[in-house]
Amino acid sequence: MALGGVRSTTSGDTAVALAQRALGDVLATPLSCLSRAELGERLLDLQTLRNQLDAALCDAALAADEQAVNLLEPGVRTTAQFAAANRPVDPALIRADSRLAHWLRDFPVLAEAFASGRISRAHLTNLRLAHRNRFHELMVRDQHLFVEHAETLDFKGCGRALAYWLLHADPDGELAKEQLQKTGVTIREHPDGSLRISGWLDPLSAAAFKAAHGHEAQKVFEADQERGWHRNQRQQNAEALLNLLARGFARPDGSFPAPLFDIVMSQRVAEDTLLRLQEPSNEPLPLDHDDVDGRCELIDGTPIHPWLASQVMHLGRFRRHIFKPDGIKLDSTTSNSHRFPKWMGHLLRIEGRGRCLTPGCDSPFHWLHNDHVHPRSRGGATATGNGGNRCRPDNLWKGDDPLRAG
Ligand SMILES: [Zn+2]
Repeated sequence: MALGGVRSTTSGDTAVALAQRALGDVLATPLSCLSRAELGERLLDLQTLRNQLDAALCDAALAADEQAVNLLEPGVRTTAQFAAANRPVDPALIRADSRLAHWLRDFPVLAEAFASGRISRAHLTNLRLAHRNRFHELMVRDQHLFVEHAETLDFKGCGRALAYWLLHADPDGELAKEQLQKTGVTIREHPDGSLRISGWLDPLSAAAFKAAHGHEAQKVFEADQERGWHRNQRQQNAEALLNLLARGFARPDGSFPAPLFDIVMSQRVAEDTLLRLQEPSNEPLPLDHDDVDGRCELIDGTPIHPWLASQVMHLGRFRRHIFKPDGIKLDSTTSNSHRFPKWMGHLLRIEGRGRCLTPGCDSPFHWLHNDHVHPRSRGGATATGNGGNRCRPDNLWKGDDPLRAG
């Protein structure tokens, strides 16, 4: 193997070989032969050894970077690649090793404690996360304190002590301002309608979130137990979050000002779905984006699988609309009202499939208004034939100028 040429009999290698043999001896004793006290001792000794080994690995990765060991193997660009090409290892871990060793160069007391197994990689990772250039000197000054914490406090206590140390190091509240600045939630919608939610909360928002969400999650957990459902914590978390949001959206009497979702399903697809629920079939689904008879989508036009729709059919209220084959509403009904009545607005939404009438506009669904295509101020009727969906900004821009109707 390629490494054959790399292995030499330097003194370092011999020492590693000795350590490997010693570990082999340790492992040769079956754990079942050890007494409880011996097992306890074994566990603790191995933890120390793990810390020492981690420290040795970090040093080795950094030194290998600096000596460009990748040159030992043609075409290999980095130390991490070199390691991963020769041993079963995640190259990201090698890169992290090297970075940690590099960071530790400024902290000889921490490095020494790491090498002797008195502080763990996890402790150092927390310190590194907390590190900022503006209190670098303070951190260097207090490194012995961090080692002392690691030796005298449990891991969580250590984190707390570090958090307090940071408060002392930060009299202006720069860190707190940083936390507030980072607070935010990103909601990213995928074309299939699913959402990816990620974000960051400052400690106070986090506490508020945890109090409300934790309370709700406990209720979901208990309800699951009562029903004998086995959902994992992530699934229960999601339901707890949805419950809270839905409750925030609800009126005081528990009803909703608008449906939580509207599903638009053609009769053909609905019948097919019901048949498949009785008798599973491998036949292709009768779905077609261009065919009014092949629709199964949310009212904003997001396609959804009929099976998913079937899972909530028992919750829904049904409303039937009849469309012409080209997806345009069957006839033009007129109302005397200035605004489109609710049922007419619903029809217009289904027809619009979530799009604003302005070509190329990608405004979100909840921005859409029912719009008189020919402005009402110029005699345009409140009729399905004169209605469409237009987003708020485009609607304002259009005003009552039919030439701007797009
Ligand atoms: Zn628009």
